[in-house]
Amino acid sequence: MAQIIDGKAVSAAVKNEVAAEAARLRDEKGLKVGLAVVIVGSDPASRVYVNNKKKACEAVGFQSFEYALEESTTQEQLLDLVNVLNRDDRVNGILVQLPLPKHIDEKAVINAISPAKDVDAFHPENVGRIMIGEYSFLPCTPAGVMRLIESTGTDITGKQCVVIGRSNIVGKPQAMLLLQKNGTVTICHSKTKNLKEICLGADILVVAIGRANFITGDMIKEGAVVIDVGMNRLDNGKLCGDVEFESAEKKASFITPVPGGVGPMTIAMLMKNTLTAAKQQAGIE
Ligand code: NAP
Repeated sequence: MAQIIDGKAVSAAVKNEVAAEAARLRDEKGLKVGLAVVIVGSDPASRVYVNNKKKACEAVGFQSFEYALEESTTQEQLLDLVNVLNRDDRVNGILVQLPLPKHIDEKAVINAISPAKDVDAFHPENVGRIMIGEYSFLPCTPAGVMRLIESTGTDITGKQCVVIGRSNIVGKPQAMLLLQKNGTVTICHSKTKNLKEICLGADILVVAIGRANFITGDMIKEGAVVIDVGMNRLDNGKLCGDVEFESAEKKASFITPVPGGVGPMTIAMLMKNTLTAAKQQAGIE
């Protein structure tokens, strides 16, 4: 039976580290860390994420600046705001909550954020830096996954790592981070043949598909570390992952639950990135 990886506890540890460092910067250098969060429209899920980010800022002692814009906001107005925030010294990190309304080009908005304040690490410059291993920020969800794997004491070197999903925000950077830790990495996607066979070879399996209970215990190698990034809302309102937990926990050595696994890590790593941004902008190592 697998040990459950407690994402809440690991994320609390990350937030405590960030809070302690933020307090030190405030006391010793008079530096206040600030995160600006921009939301356009009234999507309820996005609203929840933005509120959680605001609460996390308060918990670690950051200032948070929230910009809640009308659904009808034009791309030009949004880009103007991003440019103002790029120049605002109180703002160390800028996060534009995705998805944006259909009439706004997300790429144009991401590209407008100063790479030094791009705490989501979505700007092409930051994506490129991850490729060559010379990054300041890591994208929050894959970085959170790495921290969860680390919490199990698993050495990634030489391990067969399988990532299911190849999105720009999860799958691709996840594969790159595992590769940087010397894993032997396979990336799977919707056109992959023999998915079960590939999964059965995985010492470390990271699943980021967006399909409820898609990976079942019979696809998991005995003793594997299983990280479930998926967040799916069932008809009964319950949240569930991409991995069928009951069957998977019988095979895995470690497994993340949903909720309470990867989810809490994403916000914790956002706080960590914002702290890093503030230190870099102030010229502090
Ligand atoms: P996405 O952009 O929709 O990408 C999904 C990926 O899964 C695609 O690469 C797709 O392949 C692949 N896929 C779909 N069906 C498949 C199948 N039958 N077999 C193998 N691969 C398949 O999703 P995402 O943004 O990466 O998110 C994935 C999941 O993680 C979602 O549930 C999302 O809510 C969750 N998520 C959670 C957090 C968190 O903080 N916990 C953060 C981000 C995302 P193709 O490329 O071939 O289409």
